[in-house]
Amino acid sequence: MRKKIFFTPGPTQLAPKASFFIKKAIEDDIGSISHRGEIFKKIFKEAIFNLRKILNLPETHEIAFLSSSIEAMEVIILSMVKKKSFHFINGAFSKKWYLMAKNLGKESDYFEFSQSNSILNAKITKKPELLCLTHNETSIGMMVPMDEIYQIKKKYYDIPLALDVVSSFPYPKIDFNFVDILFFSVQKGLGLPAGLSVIVVNKKYSEKTSGGFHDFKSLFSKARIFQTPETPNVLGIYLLAKITKEIIKKNVEQIRKEIDIKSNLLYNYFSSSLIGRPFIKEFCYRSKTTIVIDVGNRTDFIVKKLEKEGFIIGKGYGQYKENHIRIANFPQHTISMIKKLIGIINKIEKSF
Ligand SMILES: *Cc1c(COP(=O)(O)O)cnc(C)c1O
Repeated sequence: MRKKIFFTPGPTQLAPKASFFIKKAIEDDIGSISHRGEIFKKIFKEAIFNLRKILNLPETHEIAFLSSSIEAMEVIILSMVKKKSFHFINGAFSKKWYLMAKNLGKESDYFEFSQSNSILNAKITKKPELLCLTHNETSIGMMVPMDEIYQIKKKYYDIPLALDVVSSFPYPKIDFNFVDILFFSVQKGLGLPAGLSVIVVNKKYSEKTSGGFHDFKSLFSKARIFQTPETPNVLGIYLLAKITKEIIKKNVEQIRKEIDIKSNLLYNYFSSSLIGRPFIKEFCYRSKTTIVIDVGNRTDFIVKKLEKEGFIIGKGYGQYKENHIRIANFPQHTISMIKKLIGIINKIEKSF
């Protein structure tokens, strides 16, 4: 059988060296070593060191690990918010975060934004304790320009801002003067198996406590000694240390350039394709890392045709399940893979 290539928005195609490192992990006894021992601490330290380099993270912020980004959303709300958070909602993931806060008993508010009603139009009153924003809304393929995020932070400077970069990392170049909390998972732009997420918190807030097992205080008091409160995903942290080293070797700037090139190839193709048009019309809000195309009601037809050729793409999310296709454009998707994908889609278009 032909080897498949996954363009799904996550889990997705693994990084080229993932299988090599997974095998190496077995050789290195990673499944058996103690999570309190020196070997583990060294791996933890290396992963943090590499992430700091990729993020260009200043000393004002520190890093810890959780097992998923949904978990990160909950830990952030519990640690930061007594009464209310404020959420910018434009799709399923940003909404999930808001509903989570409500379910946890918070009196949270939200502003619904879109490509025609930017986050800058939000009126935030009664001072919330936290602003929650999703940089790349994976469900609809909408990316908020970092500049708009910084403007919000400048306007509400004394309110901490938490940013979900789950499906955009490592694409955005972040100025941490304006971002207090950040998180992402490894099964998207890092091309690793799921089960690990990274959370970055400004030291101003990393002592916050909810009394919960995974509040900031417990997470970071352990992270500072290169450990976790529980027995963690040791394999995941090992793979993260290895993959981030590869990213540094390749140079993250180069990776960003390639993501631009590949997203241009895709958007150019769909600007005049019979298959469909980008769901997001405004160029400045089009996601570079998750390209969403409105294909009428032909999602199933296109997904199945591509699957036969070994190309696995995503269906629409939620209400758009049957009308959208979603194509991930992560670092592990090479220019040649994207060109091949466009070639096959073009063949399908010809058969219309
Ligand atoms: C995938 C995704 C999540 C959830 O990540 P998990 O690791 O599954 O918890 C959250 N936010 C966005 C924007 C995502 O794309």
